Amino acid sequence: MPRPTQAFIDCSALAHNLSIVRKFAPHSHVMAVVKADAYGHGLLQTAQALINVDGFALLELDAAISLRDAGYRQPILLLEGFFSTQELALFEQYHLSAVIHHPEQIAMLLAAKYPQLNLFLKINTGMNRLGLPPERISTIINQLQENHYQKNITLMTHFASADDRAQHDSVIQQLERFQQAAHPHAHLRSLANSAALIRYPQSHADWVRPGIMLYGASPFSDQTATDLDLRPVMTLASKIIAIHELKAGDKVGYHGLFQAERPMRIGVVACGYADGYPRHAPTNTPVLVNNQLSRLLGRVSMDMLTVDLTDIRDVQINSPVILWGKEISVDAVAQRAGTTSYELLCALAPRVEKIAC
Ligand SMILES: *Cc1c(COP(=O)(O)O)cnc(C)c1O
Repeated sequence: MPRPTQAFIDCSALAHNLSIVRKFAPHSHVMAVVKADAYGHGLLQTAQALINVDGFALLELDAAISLRDAGYRQPILLLEGFFSTQELALFEQYHLSAVIHHPEQIAMLLAAKYPQLNLFLKINTGMNRLGLPPERISTIINQLQENHYQKNITLMTHFASADDRAQHDSVIQQLERFQQAAHPHAHLRSLANSAALIRYPQSHADWVRPGIMLYGASPFSDQTATDLDLRPVMTLASKIIAIHELKAGDKVGYHGLFQAERPMRIGVVACGYADGYPRHAPTNTPVLVNNQLSRLLGRVSMDMLTVDLTDIRDVQINSPVILWGKEISVDAVAQRAGTTSYELLCALAPRVEKIAC
């Protein structure tokens, strides 16, 4: 029997979450963000479940090509664009769209004799990660139009803090800077990630770019996925592979980080940080054992973690364990571990078997 640690991917939840995206942004095209192997869910099975989505966005050229090869005809946007003139031949061959975020990339277009592709001009409106300075946009658009790109330019930007109510002003400032730079131009526009899509309808424009919400996690720390009617797509499951009885004073795992204060029963689960479970999850992080709420004890190790079975009924070797999924959200585990669901989902290890819907 193979190792019992598996990630179940719920395609109906993906389709449901896409319908929630469309409910929030009924007038926009939806570009599903599927970078990092669809946030750890598996690119091709995710794409298959997102029926009638209008486009895909990601950063990995080989993954973009595999989507095209699988028969998807929608726009596929490379979020960091191309990295060399050589890559442009592949962009052209596979009809891939490219973010242009740096003048160097315009020079690469020239060097490749301006291949016909769809370009998303990314404007730096304040995040200072990727993007062209707003004051250069008109010059760059003129230069591109002279080289026959007028029909296939979209203007885009990305918000730094749309998930944080306390930073509302920064979102408004980014919106204003974008409007100012985009205003003279009739091109399509794309601004919103999941957080902006939900909280800033004025950012919807022509293309929204949801990622995390499609996978059924919340972009916010003050609103859960359930509050937003999103359904978790991934269930990380494993099994109990050992059971021990402890006496008061007995210690558990590396450095004996957990010590029993009374007699108790514990179980060892075949899932550790090499599977993608966060090593920084502390004692008391919720874990579901045999459909009952239990808790993590002590240090998570590379291949295993330990749970409290003292009050769990009918538990034995091979009893089912759920690390995250419906009853225990990935957001809840992430919060305990001091990180985000984004990091946990895309850190799912390749050795974990993914069971498609
Ligand atoms: C990752 C990414 C998104 C999606 O963000 P979520 O918060 O997951 O919705 C959108 N746009 C860009 C440019 C991104 O890099």
